[in-house]
Amino acid sequence: MIKKFLLAVIAALGVLTAIVLFNTFRHSSVQVLTRDNPAPALSDSAVRHFQRAIGFKTISYGESSLFDSTQFLGFRKFLETAYPNMHDQLSREVVAGYSLMYKWEGKNQSLKPIVLMAHQDVVPIEESTKSMWTVDPFAGTVKEQFIWGRGTTDDKINLIAICEAVEKQLETGFRPERTVYLVFGHDEEVGGRGAQSIALLMKQRGIEAEMVLDEGGIITKEKVPGLKKPLALLGTAEKGYLSLELTVEIPGGHSSMPEKETAIDVLTKAIVQLRSHPFEAEFSEPMQNFFDHIGPEMPFLQRMAMANQWLFKPMIVNTYEKSGPGSAMMRTTMVPTIIQAGIKDNVVPTQAKCVVNFRLLPGDLSDEVVARVKEIIGDDRVKIERLEKGAIAEASAVSPVDGYGYKTVDVIIKQTYPDMLTTPFLLIGATDSRHFGEVSKNIIKFSPMIDPIGFHGINERVSLESYQTAIWFYYHLFRSLN
Ligand SMILES: [Zn+2]
Repeated sequence: MIKKFLLAVIAALGVLTAIVLFNTFRHSSVQVLTRDNPAPALSDSAVRHFQRAIGFKTISYGESSLFDSTQFLGFRKFLETAYPNMHDQLSREVVAGYSLMYKWEGKNQSLKPIVLMAHQDVVPIEESTKSMWTVDPFAGTVKEQFIWGRGTTDDKINLIAICEAVEKQLETGFRPERTVYLVFGHDEEVGGRGAQSIALLMKQRGIEAEMVLDEGGIITKEKVPGLKKPLALLGTAEKGYLSLELTVEIPGGHSSMPEKETAIDVLTKAIVQLRSHPFEAEFSEPMQNFFDHIGPEMPFLQRMAMANQWLFKPMIVNTYEKSGPGSAMMRTTMVPTIIQAGIKDNVVPTQAKCVVNFRLLPGDLSDEVVARVKEIIGDDRVKIERLEKGAIAEASAVSPVDGYGYKTVDVIIKQTYPDMLTTPFLLIGATDSRHFGEVSKNIIKFSPMIDPIGFHGINERVSLESYQTAIWFYYHLFRSLN
């Protein structure tokens, strides 16, 4: 009997191993192969233009009263003088005061246009971090083979590289097959009303784009464990954004004779409840695509796990969950960001409030999230309201991996950077392109730069090599638009 049982176990294990191995070996590379064509040397004028662009303090503040229009007007003037052919041969419209839309007429009017995006604005330098910068953040310093300053990585590298590539093409008398729109928003960091207005304008004019390309994923040499080659991350979707305000009101009083439960007690309990019940980890479509693309490039064990998710999903979740970004790619996240209660040490406050910020996975609708939050808290004394001031946005649609956008950008990357892997992925942050869902089905979020440093932070910088290849990337792109 025991012998029979053992034999059955061995047989089952054998079948299991065979399935796992079969899936592993069938899980072969999906990378496109093409000949690369390395970038030419960076010209002095290209470096100078980038440096000058950093010099404009095109800062988006939370407070609109701090907005300095002269910086944006100065930046616009600078573009006009630095890129004379572009301003001579492309038409330009100013939208929402400071956002710019250029149109480069293509040769073939029967082809749908494409839209390239970048934003002019940058985030402020926090007062408390000013002394930690080793360079002036608005001087455009070049040292140690990097360009330093606020906005170098987010997002002036894209804006300037696009202009450099257009100007270079125009100097040779080139005209693209398709019409190209350039959309340079001015307030991406505070919601992107400029880009939103341009998207609306395009919709009103009946413009349907074959592809929209905006900032997003980057090229990383070190961030994905197990990969030996550099990897370009092409965002095919971005998470949604929602802030909820929780309010509890219970009559307070003197702190010398407190009631059994106060507004602060009920609110903190609700926060603890929420934090101890995170949303389930899920492999949304972009994540599934991510594993399909990087799995075959991994060492044997990881490749086996990704090829057999039916068996190893808990293990993969476990690995990715260890880091904040890894966890955020797999679930709708929530975190309290503002808390308010009380004014005096001997008064029990009547009201306690907390703002909780959510980032929604594609497929998790904000209504469902609100319902789930109510259920988790399970206490009617906690009033739950959407925060009006926070821009509520559902997660974007997922751009298809076999669509024009992904396929085009994929090939251009392979042509620009030797020996590079590419993969779709889910962008955790928000970009201006989320407003373009009705302009195009193919929205790709990718910034052609290699491991930038100090994004939104201290000593922000990007390598000269990244800038050099970014220009070349857009240059190639214009030539392949058929
Ligand atoms: Zn940005």
